[in-house]
Amino acid sequence: MQAYSEGLRLKGKRLSFVPTMGYFHEGHLNLMREAKKMADILIVSIYVNPTQFGPKEDLSKYPRDFERDSKMAEGAGVDVIFYPSDKEMYPGNYQTYVSVEEVTKDLCGLSRPGHFRGVTTVCAKLFNIVKPHIVVFGKKDFQQYITIKRMVDDLNLDLEIVGLPTVREADGLAMSSRNVYLEENEKPSALILVSSLKLAQKLYDNGERKASAIIKEVGKLIKSVPYVDIDYIKICDTKTLTNVEEITGDAVIALAVKVSKTRLIDNHVFGENLNI
Ligand code: AMP
Repeated sequence: MQAYSEGLRLKGKRLSFVPTMGYFHEGHLNLMREAKKMADILIVSIYVNPTQFGPKEDLSKYPRDFERDSKMAEGAGVDVIFYPSDKEMYPGNYQTYVSVEEVTKDLCGLSRPGHFRGVTTVCAKLFNIVKPHIVVFGKKDFQQYITIKRMVDDLNLDLEIVGLPTVREADGLAMSSRNVYLEENEKPSALILVSSLKLAQKLYDNGERKASAIIKEVGKLIKSVPYVDIDYIKICDTKTLTNVEEITGDAVIALAVKVSKTRLIDNHVFGENLNI
């Protein structure tokens, strides 16, 4: 992969890259189509990275279907799929990790210890292997996007990170490979995430700026449906991801909610379009 990318770079080609864990949906395909417009050659990686899963998480049952993914990728204009094995990525003597500190402390970093260390490590490796000029991420994983941007700035990585908005189902549910875990009777409860983001924006539009007041109302709404267990509801500064008490600058409301066994995340930057 490195030699192939280097060859293209020497010919003056621009390379864009979309790292994924596969099991594609429209959210992934949108990143690919946009990434294709930004460069000459589009590379996508499919790798379910074990180091970003906790011991009790869904690594073994994470949905996988390479044949389906490769057809979908081709349709979206992907030139190359990088599909490494665990042995190639983490050989027996592997011992180097990348950690980004402050922005990974709260939100998913609290409930998924070690998760972002795995994400930043695998992304640093993928960036070195794929050698892209530009890498496209979804803002659905807002903390991941901020964390990767921090790593790229801090380590002077010679590439550009672009974040694109969340793609949703017609009913508003943020697309996710994990949505396949949802049972039919749990789907209405999953929709409470987007409804609660809409409520937060409405409260903001009506002049509410106290984070605790918005969080309280959002919490009440989420708890009004069955099967849900709130991991967190937080309102943070969009750059530092530290909690804000009073919304004065750019702020994001971020949610993680378990619907039965499925952990869903979603977020909304106040004042932006919710895309539904
Ligand atoms: P994943 O395969 O879930 O690790 O995601 C690969 C990339 O797709 C990441 O940059 C995600 O943020 C992005 N992504 C996943 N779901 C969505 C979505 N619904 N809308 C936009 N981007 C997404």
